[in-house]
Parts: sequence; structure tokens; C-alpha cells
Amino acid sequence: MKMAEIHQLPDEIINKIAAGEVIERPASAVKELIENAIDAGATRIQVQIEQGGKAKILVSDNGKGMGQADLDICYLRHTTSKLHSADDLFHLHTNGFRGEAVASIAAISKMTITSATDDGESGRIILKGGEVVEKQDIQASRGTTFLIEDLFFNTPVRRTFLGSDTSEGTRVLDVVIRAAVAHPEIRFDYKVGDKSVFIGVPGELKNRLAEAIGSGVAKNLLPVDYTEAQIHVSGYISPVTETNGKRHHQFLFMRNRPFESKLIGKAVSQAYEPYGAQCKPVTVLFLDMPDMEFDVNVHPAKREIRFANQNLVFLVVTHAIRETFKAAMEASSPIIDLSDEKYETFTSHSTGAFSESTHTDVGFDAGFRSPKMPSQDSFKLAERKPPKYTTEDDTVQDLFSQPELGKIISLEPGQQNVQAATPQQEQPWAPPTFFQVANTYIAGEDAEGLLIIDQHAAHSRILYEQALETLASGAALESQELLFPELIEFSKLEQELFHSVEADLKHLGFYIEHFGGDTFQIRAIPSALSLSRATKAVHEFLDSVSSGDRNDMVKIQDTIAKSWAKTNAYQAGDKLKPEEMAMLVSQLMTMDDPLKSPYGTPTLMRLSLDELSKKFKH
Ligand code: ADP
Ligand code: MG
Repeated sequence: MKMAEIHQLPDEIINKIAAGEVIERPASAVKELIENAIDAGATRIQVQIEQGGKAKILVSDNGKGMGQADLDICYLRHTTSKLHSADDLFHLHTNGFRGEAVASIAAISKMTITSATDDGESGRIILKGGEVVEKQDIQASRGTTFLIEDLFFNTPVRRTFLGSDTSEGTRVLDVVIRAAVAHPEIRFDYKVGDKSVFIGVPGELKNRLAEAIGSGVAKNLLPVDYTEAQIHVSGYISPVTETNGKRHHQFLFMRNRPFESKLIGKAVSQAYEPYGAQCKPVTVLFLDMPDMEFDVNVHPAKREIRFANQNLVFLVVTHAIRETFKAAMEASSPIIDLSDEKYETFTSHSTGAFSESTHTDVGFDAGFRSPKMPSQDSFKLAERKPPKYTTEDDTVQDLFSQPELGKIISLEPGQQNVQAATPQQEQPWAPPTFFQVANTYIAGEDAEGLLIIDQHAAHSRILYEQALETLASGAALESQELLFPELIEFSKLEQELFHSVEADLKHLGFYIEHFGGDTFQIRAIPSALSLSRATKAVHEFLDSVSSGDRNDMVKIQDTIAKSWAKTNAYQAGDKLKPEEMAMLVSQLMTMDDPLKSPYGTPTLMRLSLDELSKKFKH
């Protein structure tokens, strides 16, 4: 008889396999160790890594600690202190306590655990590949310190799958930041080598977000607080005006534990989609729902969650975001609401170039327009008679008689076919007339009814596309020295990033020097950039670098173009001449994306004749 081919694997190998699934890389070890520290009630957590965490990971907390007896078994598989009764079994499952993490890390590293409890019990245990090497009787202050050295030392293949020290380090930083955002009440200190990279001072979530993603971005976030069908969603999200590209700034937490979800990612993009397909908002969403509604144990590293009712979760997240937009809009809202059927009114009957993207789920209501919104009074008092301008104005005439095929739309009343927008030669052509409302909006008649344009948004779009073109031509950016250097404060993270991209910044025209402490001085800025936007542009650039676009010049070009557009565009309140309005409208129509400002807000809206007639109940 042949010997059995199936045989049981020795424990040591089982442990290594399990370890490989739970601990894929240094960042996964850091994540588990931080979670344990949080579970132990720590109010302060220090993390330090060397060589991207491959050589050394240190996680130290001031939590309740372990006594000698616990210390002796915590590194064994399936040991947990988080299960006390049968009743707890379910709870244990939902929270993902599986008693695997410490054992998994221990199996593939050299681990030193030092711990002390309030009762004065303390000790140290040193392990290698999951085997005890030494126990020490030492005094320590309350809390636990895990020192992990040579991760994957006995699984060399895994080691070769790791990225560079920098890329593994970036992942660790991401884990620390996520934990820090989940727990703003805990102090976090994160060091790479001896260098302090992130410090989180205990406080409000909003302050923690400022530390994590920069105060400029954080200060504009809108609070979310929404419950539907026993699903609670809270946190912060970008207003629709500030959605430019911080790819890594989507934070999701279930009961304060970070997780990833394509489903929720989709819900988020769908909610923002109307404001630009490219928009990458900051979203910090904390979810909670009844135990039966989710399962965290579908992924070995507990990265993903399975929802009992996916559609419901999707819907509730979408609603939460929309409600937030709506609340923000109402808070800053100015004028009469023209629509009963909020989401349909301005969009349903348009055709051609405009219609495809003006039809949005959230409608224009969600936009936050120019700061100076007209009051009800100014709306009433505004000029009613469209100023006439003469047909001798050749510039204007020219602009309208040479349409770029497929992009231009008819501004003439009564003309239904958008593609046939070229003015007919036979008939004397009268240029469209526009008038300004509150020196902020341009109103006029178009083929289908009333057209209203936000002059700042529209002009920004034009200048933005023009600036992008110039920048894309590769021209080195001219720099302009500042008479009085502008001071700028960098977070620890930004300082780190700054040093790695200083050369890129110079190439773009930014000359920045250290000034003292966390303060730097900007000595020169790109000439195209206004001084008032310079600091923001630098912060944004560093932000985009932190989200992995180190070499992405396109991104910074985009920032500069946006900023240039924003400062140089007509502002709300600027009085425009008729020909300026006509020029603006005609230029807008030749843009690649005429419907949205560079910041994703709508540039125009339309009220169709049908809708007008409905309003007046014909
Ligand atoms: P789990 O967290 O699922 O219980 P782990 O393997 O992560 O499993 O941890 C095993 C046990 O070790 C925990 O239940 C806890 O009792 C103990 N432990 C681990 N880390 C700490 C810590 N930082 N402070 C106190 N106890 C800890
Ligand atoms: Mg754990």
C-alpha cells in the first residue's frame, strides 16, 4: 500500500500560512497593533518604523496592559481576551476579534512584548518565529509595547513581494492616519526613524482632519449626520466646490474601524458625479448599523465588509451626501426657489450640448455659487430691460458667425435644432441680448427659454482651459520674486513631502525656504499665480503629492490653472458691458466642458418655456 499523500501540516507551517493572509505587509502589522492598543483603552499611541517597517516596527500604548499570565499566551493562535460568554461570541464576530493578529505577527518576526498593568504586574517576553526565546522580569509603566523586528525573516518569498521602503512606509502612514481619524480622542505620534512625521493632538474630529489632510482642506468640509433604516452615517465631506483630487482622502469606518468598500466608493462618486467626472472629494464617513446588517470577517485582514443589504447601504450613503449638500445650500442660500420639483425643473427639457450633463440627480440646488449672492431685494430691483447693443459691433458678430462645429449652441430664440446653430445667412442676424442680474449672473434668452449664467463660474472655465493649454505646451513657468516673502506653515507631513519635491516646486516657479520651526517662507511664485492664491496652491500641491502623484505635473498645472482662473475671472458683483457678456457666453460655448466651472459647480442653468408655462399654470 502506498503511503498516504495527504498529511497534516505541522503547526509552524499552518501559522506561517495564516500569518501570510492576515499580515501581508508591514502596514497590516501596524494596523493590527494599533487596533489592539485602541481595544486596550489607550489614550496615547506611539508608532515608529524603520526601513518601511521591514526592519522595525514599534507600537507603544498606555492602555490597560497585560499581566504575566496574559503575556504568556497572547501570542498563541486563537487567544483573545475579548470573549467572555457565549453571548459575546456574536459580538466578537462582528468586531473581527479572532485572536489571530499577535500570533500571526509573532510567527513571522522577532517580537518583543513589554507590558504592565495598573496592578503593578509587568514583564517582557521575547519571541522568534513564534517561539519563546526569553522572558524578563522588568518594571514598566502601564501599557504595552510591541517591538517587531525583521518582519518576514523566515518567509523570504513574502519579503520579496514587498515594495520599496518608501512605498511600504507610505502605506504605514496611511494606516496611522486612518486610525488617527477614527480616534481623534487619542494622541498619536508617528515617527519614521527619528523623524516625527505625524502628530495627532487629542481633540475634535475636525481638528484631527486638519492634522491629517491639511487645515485648508479640512476647514471647508461639510458635516454629515444622517440616519435612515437604522443605518447611521456621520462625518465630513467636501462641498461640491472643492473636489479637486485628493485621491487618498476617502475615509470609511464601520464602528470606528477603517474598512474599504467599492460599493460605498461608487455611492460617493455617484453623488458627486454631476460636479465633474474627475472630482475626488474628501469623504470621511462613519457608518453604524445593527449587528445583523454586516460582517467584517469576509477578508483575512478585515479590510472589507459584507453588507446584508447592499442596495440599502448604497442608497443611504447617497442620501446622506445629498442631504448634506442640501443643508449646506439652504444655510448659504439666497434666492427664491424657482422649482417645486427640485431635481427636475431646470434640466428635463433641454436638448443637445447642454442636456447631457445638466441632467443631474442632485440638480443645481446643491451647488454653492459665488460668494456674493444677490439678496431677494436685489433680485427684484435688478435691471429688467436688456441693454441693447449695436450690430456694428464686429467682434461680437464674428464670434457668433464662426461657430466651432458641434460645440456651439444656438442662442437665438425659436431655433430648436442645436446642431444647426450657424446663423442663417439669408436672414439678418440679430445678436443675442443679455443682461446682468445683481452684477453676478448673466441672463438671456436661448432656443428653449431662459438661460442664466454664473459669470464667475463661466469665466473661470474659460480662463482655466486657456491656462491649461499654455501650461501643457511645456513652457517653463516664469517666476516672480516677492518683495515681501510670504510666510507659510507646513504640517510635519508637509515638511517631509516638501523636501522630496522641492526641485519640482522650483521648476514651477515656487522658491520656498525654511524660516524657523514649522514656518517656511515663499520667496517667489509663478507669475501666473496671484499672491493670494499662492499658499493655497503650495498646500494643494503637497496634498496631491501625498496622495501619490509625486511626478504628476499635470496635477500641479491643473492647480495653477485653476487658481489663475479663479483670481482673474470676473467676480460676483463685477459690472459687465454687453459685449463682454456676449463674448463670455460665446467663448464659454467653445470650451471642452462648458457646463461646469473648474471647481465642478454649474456655469449655467436654464428654465425652459415649458417649465415657465407650468410655473404660471397655463
Ligand atoms: P484579538 O485582538 O482578536 O483579541 P490579537 O491577536 O490581536 O487578537 O490579540 C490577542 C490578545 O492579546 C488580545 O485579546 C488582548 O488580550 C491581548 N493584547 C494584544 N495587544 C494588546 C495591547 N496593546 N494591550 C493589551 N492587551 C493586548
Ligand atoms: Mg487584535
